[in-house]
Amino acid sequence: MNRRKFFRNGSLFTLGTALINPFESTASILDLQTINKNKKAKNIIFMVSDGMSTGTLNMADLYLNRKTGKGSNWLQLYKEQRINRALMDTASASSIVTDSSAGSSSWGGGFRVNNGSLNVGPNGEMHMPIWQKFKKAGKMAGCVTTVPITHATPAGFCVNSKSRNAQEDIAEQYLELGFDIMMGGGNNYFSADIRKDKKDIYALYKAKGWQIARNRQEMMAADNSKPLLGVFADDGLPYNIDRTNDKALTDSTPTLAEMAQKAIDRMKGNKNGFVLQIEAGKVDWGAHANDIGALLYDQVAFDEAIKVAIDFASKDGETLVIITTDHGNANPGVIYGKDANNNFDSIQKYTHTNEWILNSIKPDNTIAQVREIVESANATAISEEDAKTVLTYYDGLHKEEGGLYNYKKVPFKTFAQIQQKHNSVGWISMDHSADYVELAMFGPGSELLKPFVKNTDLHYLMLQAAEVENKF
Ligand SMILES: [Zn+2]
Repeated sequence: MNRRKFFRNGSLFTLGTALINPFESTASILDLQTINKNKKAKNIIFMVSDGMSTGTLNMADLYLNRKTGKGSNWLQLYKEQRINRALMDTASASSIVTDSSAGSSSWGGGFRVNNGSLNVGPNGEMHMPIWQKFKKAGKMAGCVTTVPITHATPAGFCVNSKSRNAQEDIAEQYLELGFDIMMGGGNNYFSADIRKDKKDIYALYKAKGWQIARNRQEMMAADNSKPLLGVFADDGLPYNIDRTNDKALTDSTPTLAEMAQKAIDRMKGNKNGFVLQIEAGKVDWGAHANDIGALLYDQVAFDEAIKVAIDFASKDGETLVIITTDHGNANPGVIYGKDANNNFDSIQKYTHTNEWILNSIKPDNTIAQVREIVESANATAISEEDAKTVLTYYDGLHKEEGGLYNYKKVPFKTFAQIQQKHNSVGWISMDHSADYVELAMFGPGSELLKPFVKNTDLHYLMLQAAEVENKF
């Protein structure tokens, strides 16, 4: 039912919404629902921790709780009953195990498509992506991510493409479609020096009035009244833990929370509102690599971005915030053992990802040097025997190792198994899972959420919450 019509024709009562602060933590969930029901969502912030198994959400909360005495912002919303919550079925048209392009397309286009496709159905049907629908309704629209801005999850809200791999083309499509802020990595798809067709995509954006930010300072200094393209790395941005422990990376690269804040500041003045996707894309990459330092600290960075979104939405009162993931990945968890607590707590002392460790090791390193590198990043020594095992992967004979984004074929899987003896974190695989996933909603429109939904349902929920007709 059209909610506006419902309230125009048959409203039971009129709430003095202006007089009530719906975000007082004393308000019960029922109060919040009643208040939200009378309101449309002028803005929507859609937050995706890509490839976030429930275990990842759990471990981030455990980690923060044990380290700081305060859990994650995400779980805090549950504890304070400020949110509606559901499980979501994440299947694609071709598999019960989705990939990120079909996952994002289910939300973005409202239809399930085959894995690998962006809003193009199995028979070539083109589904208009939801950020285009909202642009037509007068809203501003943008995406920020820690992977290339042309990657599957942002692209699924913005474009149609038979293949998620067409990232060079997607970079050009964004410009034609006229979005308002797009930030992440992906210089490979914008730079004339790297693109196959040698086109200078930055120049095309500039010619259309876009500002280009290539580092954190430029992003911070960018004028909020003009469209902004932020590209901070050739491929994905550095993992949060590697960034935090490297001065040059800290200076050059914004955090996800900083990008989220910039995007909100850029678009919040628009009279018809805005829609923003915020993606922690490298939570997925960390899961593919069974890399706990990468995964956990990027989930924490996502959690800091949640605070930015909820702080804005709490004050604003007209913003629906959706927090979820597109699918599980590698289903990690802390596994029982008598030292499980201390082992898990040892991750608090990590300063670098396994990606950093394994790329720091060179074929001519000695066993002692390998142990030194690991200890420098994990504050825990591995045995000589384990160091020897790791080194066997650098002799040119053993290079076959799993992990989707493992371009250099380093031994992620073997190393995670060694690490498990010291951190008690186990993994069931190095790939996506079919698990139903966590879904949370805050603000006006959240009362529309049912306890169990299909990924495609969110497409229609967003349109309904914003009272934008699905007439395209
Ligand atoms: Zn993935």
